[in-house]
Amino acid sequence: MSNIKKDVCDNCIIYDGLFGLEINSKGLCNFCEDPNHVNPNWRKVRIDNPTRQKRLMEWNEIIRTLQDKNGQNEYSCVIGYSGGKDSTALIDTFINEYNLKPFLVTINTGFMTDIAKDNIRKSLDKMNLSKDHIFVEDAIPTFIKLYRHLFLNHLSAEKALAADVCHTCTDLIHTVIVKEAIKKKIDYVFIGFSPDQIARYFFKTPKKDTYNDGLPRPQEFKKEINNEDLKWYLNENTNIDILPQVIYPYHVIEYDENEIINRIEAKGLIDKGKGDPVLTNCHVIKAAMYYDFYRYGAIFYAVQYAELVRQKDNDIEREKARKYYLRLMSRIGKNIKNDNFDSEGYENFLKKIGITKDIIFKIIENQRKNDPNLKKILKNIDVISNKRLK
Ligand SMILES: [Zn+2]
Repeated sequence: MSNIKKDVCDNCIIYDGLFGLEINSKGLCNFCEDPNHVNPNWRKVRIDNPTRQKRLMEWNEIIRTLQDKNGQNEYSCVIGYSGGKDSTALIDTFINEYNLKPFLVTINTGFMTDIAKDNIRKSLDKMNLSKDHIFVEDAIPTFIKLYRHLFLNHLSAEKALAADVCHTCTDLIHTVIVKEAIKKKIDYVFIGFSPDQIARYFFKTPKKDTYNDGLPRPQEFKKEINNEDLKWYLNENTNIDILPQVIYPYHVIEYDENEIINRIEAKGLIDKGKGDPVLTNCHVIKAAMYYDFYRYGAIFYAVQYAELVRQKDNDIEREKARKYYLRLMSRIGKNIKNDNFDSEGYENFLKKIGITKDIIFKIIENQRKNDPNLKKILKNIDVISNKRLK
């Protein structure tokens, strides 16, 4: 019994007790010990080269087909437009490289600022695409109900609320976009996920999954919604054959982040210096990060930061990245503990979903007291927010 149990993995930044993960006697976390380890919040998606090449050929074929059919319909495809750099550059590629005209759909889930909306309108004006775009804002009440439900009923012992919310919300956003494509009889929906945003699907969502993901979830949420809400979802009778193909082009086509930023900045499509590559702009995820911090002693992004550290190919770079992300996690933890982490966004979010901080804390305490990991959770909350992760 001479092994000294360490708190943080020697090779990445996973710490003991994070989402049920452990550090072994050699000082390695479950992921570093076994690259195939799976956790509800993280699994490594490995795409081999032949698969990637096959999908790239499929992509080229789709573009050729759309170009052959160009002019038969008003629009070649639908592109989900968030106003961010990736979707903006994707639109630019369609217009200027492929010579194809997309129909653009932006979904406001209730937390888009006026500045963000203004920026989207300005970019559309510059691209001369204002008439080829819709802002869907009528689904906001449904999104709000969904968030409220998820925050009040998160019962998982391991899966972060942030992961659950992101997953469920993305499905609804994509379904709303898919329904716009169906209305316009458009066969393809393109989403500008970056190459590392491979959550469940690589390159495309199989149509049967587009169907399943399009039905109201979770099960108990169905009891809380009415016909107004249901119109944003698919239903059991939706014919799978009429669904458009949902595709993530950046999973296979060239993706050079600097080139993308330079190109759209040069065209004045996005303000210079925008966009934090790591931390999300989403207030909903940030609110869920408060929950996850107190419920699991977790910084939600730790599993993703850890993968970035593991990807460094030499020890010096890895150690540098390790220190950087450990400090970043402590900073986030400290800010959460001091109510200083997007606090305005957090309060605004809770107000909109009609839940108080007290209620959130009561739910968390109730969940925590039955958690066999309670000791580690409390320790981690303390260690992270006091900058003692090493
Ligand atoms: Zn590790």
